[in-house]
Amino acid sequence: AHDKLLKSEKMATLGVLAAGIAHEVNSPLQYIQGGALGIEAYFEKHYNTIPEDVKSLLDSINEGVNRSADIVASLNQFSRQKQEKTDAVNIHQIIDNCLTILGNKIKYKVDIEKHFQRDDIIVSGNEGQLHQVIINILTNAIQAMHNEGKINIQTKLKDNKAELIFTDNGEGIKPEDLSKLTEPFFTTKPSGEGTGLGLSISQKIIEEHKGQILFDSTLGKGTTVTIILPL
Ligand code: ADP
Repeated sequence: AHDKLLKSEKMATLGVLAAGIAHEVNSPLQYIQGGALGIEAYFEKHYNTIPEDVKSLLDSINEGVNRSADIVASLNQFSRQKQEKTDAVNIHQIIDNCLTILGNKIKYKVDIEKHFQRDDIIVSGNEGQLHQVIINILTNAIQAMHNEGKINIQTKLKDNKAELIFTDNGEGIKPEDLSKLTEPFFTTKPSGEGTGLGLSISQKIIEEHKGQILFDSTLGKGTTVTIILPL
């Protein structure tokens, strides 16, 4: 119990810190974005065109700004305090929406297999938050695989609970890392690719839904993430 208290105290402190950083970083980001737009407008006005080399520099500024804005959004999400409103939400619909969104981002071929046990699984929860959790899990799965990627998504009802099981055949997770996955800022990805906030946010959301998120992995073989939610 003491451990748990210490952990929630730490998370609360980190939340305040994260919100502060997000807020502070956001305004210089606006200047950078505004500056890039200003340079573009300057060339349009004086030369009627933007030279290719300037254009490619502006593109890389914009890419950096977008990436930073994503990080700011993750920090904000991480520090979010109270639960948002709950509705009856259709899990299969959320999964399908996530797959559609990610489908446009996957650059190489990933086989997605769905095994939905029944037509609808309805849980009480916040649609936007559950959507975020599933996006995080699928994004990790996609980033973990190289070629011949396979993701299997299974849903079922068990003991009056919904189980969502995501299995990938990616690179897997080292046994000593398994317990660290949901620690804020834990990442094994190269800088620029991961913030290490995805699973910590996901765990917080699932706990707020009175559910559980479980990880099982074999290095070199793949990873299974299971979400259990009360109906
Ligand atoms: P990030 O994706 O920004 O690194 P996450 O909290 O989403 O942050 O994930 C933390 C770490 O967990 C990842 O850096 C990775 O090492 C590991 N991980 C999560 N999901 C998977 C997966 N499906 N396969 C392999 N490693 C994973």
